[in-house]
Amino acid sequence: MTAPLATPRAPQAKVSQRKGCAICGKPRDPRYDPFCSKRCADVDLHHWLSGAYVVPGAATATATDAPEGEED
Ligand SMILES: [Zn+2]
Repeated sequence: MTAPLATPRAPQAKVSQRKGCAICGKPRDPRYDPFCSKRCADVDLHHWLSGAYVVPGAATATATDAPEGEED
């Protein structure tokens, strides 16, 4: 892979300044980046909190109780 060393300016111009608010898509506000307002920032926060409660669980592929036809 070739490192993108062609960034003489705008060190924070990665790939997260193209779209607007991460919630509604409106022009984001630097004070609430990457959101447009505290409201949207709050919405995202709630999403995070909700997700924190809903643990995705360990990999489902690690099922130990799965006799793959090895039951003679
Ligand atoms: Zn928004």
